[in-house]
Amino acid sequence: MSEDAIRTIVIVGGGTAGWMTAAVLSKVLGSAYTIRLVESEAIGTVGVGEGTIPHIRLFNSLLQIDETDFVRKTQGTFKLGVQFNNWGRVGDTYMHGFGNGIGQNLGLLPFHQCWIKASRAGKADDIGSYVLSSLAAPRGKFMVSANDVPQTSPLANIAYAYHFDAGLYARYLRAYSEQRGVQRTEGIVARVALDPESGHVEAIDLDNGETIRGDLFIDCSGFRGLLIEEALKTGYVAFNHWLPCDRALAVPCENVGPPTPYTRATAREAGWQWRIPLQHRTGNGYVYSSAHISDDEAAATLLKHLDGRALDDPRPLRFVTGRRKQFWNKNVVAIGLSSGFVEPLEATSIYSIQSGIMRLLSLFPRDGFSQALIDRYNTQMVFDFERIRDFLILHYHATQRDDTAFWRQCRDMSIPRELQDVITLFRDSGRFYRNGEEMFAEMSWVQVMLGQGIVPRSYHPFVDQLSDEELEGFVSGVGRIVSNCVDAMPAHQAFIDRHCRAAAP
Ligand code: FAD
Repeated sequence: MSEDAIRTIVIVGGGTAGWMTAAVLSKVLGSAYTIRLVESEAIGTVGVGEGTIPHIRLFNSLLQIDETDFVRKTQGTFKLGVQFNNWGRVGDTYMHGFGNGIGQNLGLLPFHQCWIKASRAGKADDIGSYVLSSLAAPRGKFMVSANDVPQTSPLANIAYAYHFDAGLYARYLRAYSEQRGVQRTEGIVARVALDPESGHVEAIDLDNGETIRGDLFIDCSGFRGLLIEEALKTGYVAFNHWLPCDRALAVPCENVGPPTPYTRATAREAGWQWRIPLQHRTGNGYVYSSAHISDDEAAATLLKHLDGRALDDPRPLRFVTGRRKQFWNKNVVAIGLSSGFVEPLEATSIYSIQSGIMRLLSLFPRDGFSQALIDRYNTQMVFDFERIRDFLILHYHATQRDDTAFWRQCRDMSIPRELQDVITLFRDSGRFYRNGEEMFAEMSWVQVMLGQGIVPRSYHPFVDQLSDEELEGFVSGVGRIVSNCVDAMPAHQAFIDRHCRAAAP
């Protein structure tokens, strides 16, 4: 082994990011490396981050986590998408349901092209009626993919994610990681020692006098970025001129009724409110712009709109949307909130943790820190963050709301050129092209653009090759299949009761 070989990996922080990283590294790297994790109970974690997107199932399957055990131990529920209320206009509602395709494609034509023409003729329902997850979610239906139906059935490939208790999730992954040899140290990092020549992090000193040396440091210390920012001064690119919310208040409340298999995101006068149902409670929060509403007003608004009795006082959180200038700098890789935060609207932060870890594995350095690997990592992470950023900006910008200064600002702001191009193309004739390997699929963009009131002026000319009767028959046939499938699905609560009911906390 060369002298520069990486032997000791030190993870600073034991929130969701720290323990997700520890779990994967311990699973994949085995005993060839020493993996240490330092966290401080006195500092604590952000403790929110309870909604996910379907990619988390790949993460869990890499760890060979048993789904029912995982859902039970995290008080989890299932998530088919996000319901957006009051975004395009006050009173509007639409679902962004997960899944790889809307209805069924017709040869080269995406389904939504046929839908546009049928809809213009008044012969189609809302687009959500043709997407299994979007139709099932508001009806409170859920099941995992069936293996006793034809592969072409929508029931054979159901896209879903989870809601879970973030604290229990970190605990779950901690047990997993410690079983696989990760050494956990409780303590506060008081000082970071840098190599005077290379500027690399050499060691961290804890407040109890212990020094922990390492070769590769993973900064999972949260918003402050203890290593990536405070020690290495990497710099931050803010997105707050496009994503203006900079504060949140989070509060749990009692459950009323069965958990919905979707997150609810309700636009309010200066931001939006989330509702995430778990088995033992419901998580809520108001994400808002402090330039447009006071903290007291935001708290009053949040509490006024809870489904059940509040179980705590609202907990304040502050952030600046954006990303680090470099995600990997010298021998420090920032993962989690230390790397940036685009805001929780589509629950993408845990996905970004996941993609940071997977990219690190694929670019893992052999001996020393090659700049080529570092540059590649940074290029990919910047791409990921900016595509997600643009998707979120779409939700704020594509609005007809003019009832508050916040919404007027969002509607009137200039937006990144690439996003403008996507909107212009879709408005022209419903065309959409996915940008490289961006995370959100065509169907996500299409549902959100239509849901926010962007109506295509035209459609693909090949749709005209179908007669009006054929088109109507095709669209209504897809609708019927999706609706029959949803009828056959069990209620979300019944599915949980049967497979993964959690013990009372
Ligand atoms: P943290 O949870 O802040 O953990 C930081 C860790 O570093 C802690 O263990 C702390 O003790 C340790 N630490 C810090 N300083 C020191 C020190 N000096 N010494 C020792 N240890 C130290 N994501 C989603 O995917 N879905 C969502 O629905 C979602 N909702 C969110 C809502 C809000 C309002 C916010 C703010 C975020 C949300 N997120 C969401 C993001 C999600 O919460 C985070 O991505 C996730 O919790 C990871 O946080 P983290 O581990 O990076 O940081």
